[in-house]
Amino acid sequence: MKAFKAVEHYFGKAADKLDLSSEMRQLMLTPKREIKVQIPIEMDDGTLRTFLGYRVQHDNSRGPMKGGLRYHHEVDLDEVRALSALMTWKTAVVDIPFGGAKGGINVDPSELSRKENQRLTRKFIDQIHEVIGPDTDIPAPDMGTNSETMAWMRNQYEKYHGFNPAVITGKPVEHYGAKGREEATGRGVGILTFKLLSRMQLKPKKTTVAIQGFGNVGFHAAKWLYECEFNIVAISDISGAYYCKDGINIAEALKYVLEGNNLDGFTGATKITNEELLALDVDILIPAAIGGVIHSGNASDVKASMIIEAANGPVDADADIILEKKEIVVLPDILANAGGVTVSYFEWVQNRQFYQWELDRIRQNLEAKLSQAFESVWQTSNEQHCDLRTAAYMVAIERVKQAASLAGI
Ligand code: GLU
Repeated sequence: MKAFKAVEHYFGKAADKLDLSSEMRQLMLTPKREIKVQIPIEMDDGTLRTFLGYRVQHDNSRGPMKGGLRYHHEVDLDEVRALSALMTWKTAVVDIPFGGAKGGINVDPSELSRKENQRLTRKFIDQIHEVIGPDTDIPAPDMGTNSETMAWMRNQYEKYHGFNPAVITGKPVEHYGAKGREEATGRGVGILTFKLLSRMQLKPKKTTVAIQGFGNVGFHAAKWLYECEFNIVAISDISGAYYCKDGINIAEALKYVLEGNNLDGFTGATKITNEELLALDVDILIPAAIGGVIHSGNASDVKASMIIEAANGPVDADADIILEKKEIVVLPDILANAGGVTVSYFEWVQNRQFYQWELDRIRQNLEAKLSQAFESVWQTSNEQHCDLRTAAYMVAIERVKQAASLAGI
């Protein structure tokens, strides 16, 4: 299923409850601007390859547009458009003064050398530098990009516009990055999982968790949850899934991954398939990899009673209907993984003040922001008798609508 279809489905559920006019629906679902650019680069062997890059600027009613840049072989306009809309709702749910945008390049970065990657990144910025900026649209890392990519981007942008660290977030700490930005999304997933668990009156030690994906988000979510004594029975990455019914020693798994590239050869668990991981009889399932992993073909196999959407868009619209019938509680992406963009906001604030916050301050402010957001979504869900995703969308849509109306459309 197309990614934007899922966004329309979720938006529609909340819009119906809010009795939103069809004019407002059309306005809010139509991105402000969509950019598609050609990125030709010379490969190390002297050949020429042409890639496609995208930036979709969805909405700026609440502030400069904000969102990551993804390097992945499935990136296309539909996906980026969907992800840009999710950013608008995400920044609104956590109430940071940004709108939403997203971009990326259709490329498998693991096939490129570091030099090719850098050339590609600089060429991409050459193509989009006029439409981004600290007051208009601020990119950040996403799948396939990291703090080093952000450092190249900032450097390339500054060749045109001069010193301007606030144009990009997720930079290395040595390059005006924020302490704790790297861990922020995963840490946020952990904080919010804990909040949900308390509302369900469950205890971490007695709660089993399966995490799909062990990249930046899955890694840090696992670390935080393990430290809080959750019983993580399964993890996975590109090399496969790993299961141990008595709980995986996550400290060992983290160490293993830091020493090599992935979990391949990890001996602390039995190897299972990714599909088996999604169908495990656990309390909490955390999809932390790509979008659309839970779909009409496997949603009825899900046995977890809670799903925490650490990835963007892991549950498609067909699956949503099935999960709802099964009464599975879903903590939606626009809240569950909002820790990353929240710390991006702190980074942007620091850049504009030329002042660096200590890690404790970042962590405390992150927890405060996410707690506030969780409370308002939880309360809306109770008052409106709806699921958490619909409640999160309702909170977000109301805020965006308010800002757009106040400015006079
Ligand atoms: N790519 C991340 C997300 O999907 C972070 C975006 C940002 O920090 O702007 O939320």
